[in-house]
Parts: sequence; C-alpha cells; structure tokens
Amino acid sequence: MIKLFEQFLDSLGNEESYASVPKIVLDNIKKIKVNYINFEGELKTGIIECNIKVAEDLELIFKELLDIKFPIKEINPISLYDNDDMKSVIANNCSCFNYRLIAGSNDLSDHSTGNAIDINPMQNPWIHPSAHKIEGRQYKPGERGTITEEVVDIFKSYGWKWGGDWNNPDYQHFFKPDVELKKEIMKFYGM
Ligand SMILES: [Zn+2]
Repeated sequence: MIKLFEQFLDSLGNEESYASVPKIVLDNIKKIKVNYINFEGELKTGIIECNIKVAEDLELIFKELLDIKFPIKEINPISLYDNDDMKSVIANNCSCFNYRLIAGSNDLSDHSTGNAIDINPMQNPWIHPSAHKIEGRQYKPGERGTITEEVVDIFKSYGWKWGGDWNNPDYQHFFKPDVELKKEIMKFYGM
C-alpha cells in the first residue's frame, strides 16, 4: 500500500497525474462557473474545480467578490497548466482542485480535495523557503489584485480561513478542509 503512495508522489506534476487520483477524490469534485472582473476591468467567466461540499460557498463568495469588483487575473482548472502548480502561478491563475502535496512536505494539500483556492498568486505569494521562486512575484499591499481586508472578510463569513494569517503567510490561499475525505485518502494509500 505504501507503494501506491510512492507512485502518487512520482506522478505529481506531470500530465498523467489525474490518472492516479483515487475515485473517492474525483467523486467529490465538481466544476462550477463563476463570473469575475479581470485586471482590465472586463467581465469574465471562469471555471473552478472544487469539492462538492464547498461549491455553494464558492459560488456565493465569487458573487460577493464580483459585487466589490475585486480584480482577478484568471480562473481556470489546473489541467490547463498540465496540473503543474508552478505553471499556474506563472500564469497568475486562480486555482482550486489540484491533487498534490503541500510544497516541501509529504502532507496532502487542501487543494488535493478541492478545499483550498489560491487567488492572484503573483500578487499574493507564500512567504516560505519552499515557495516557488518566480521573478516579479511580490507581496505589495495596495497593488491591483492583492488580497484586501474586504476579501478576507468575505471568505471568513462563509467559515473559510486565510493562509495570510499564518506565521509563514500564504496570502493567495483560502481554505475550508474536508477532514473526512483526507482521512479516506490516507486509508486508500494504507497510511
Ligand atoms: Zn493554496
């Protein structure tokens, strides 16, 4: 069983990685469409792949983000970037479901169950030695697309938490974990 988990680790970051996503995970993932204002002030529609348990939250949250005209660079499923978080960050994409570990660790990320979402990663980096080092990626409060207090309050009003509150802040990251599903995944790998 441990072997399976090793296969999972090996498969991360390549195009076939979805082939190794357990059915129990895929059964819990849903695609939703949300409208948003992009950096040019245009109304756009994005697709979010998320856990079915947080789908309604995200629909309502993104409606509120649209109401306050919070600018978002783009919102696409991670498959558009070969399931590669680095490529998604470089595109400044807002990503949710991505079957992967927390960078620099062996722990499943909340993204792996569709229970975390990263917004404008170029303006809202993770301040940590394991974070992707990308030129121009900088946290400057007040810049277009940088997470504001208003955005944080909207997420928190639906019971989500913000990575920006951590000691090593992850400003892009909002999350509402599915503890049960995570346990099932670990069981699937015999861990
Ligand atoms: Zn994240």
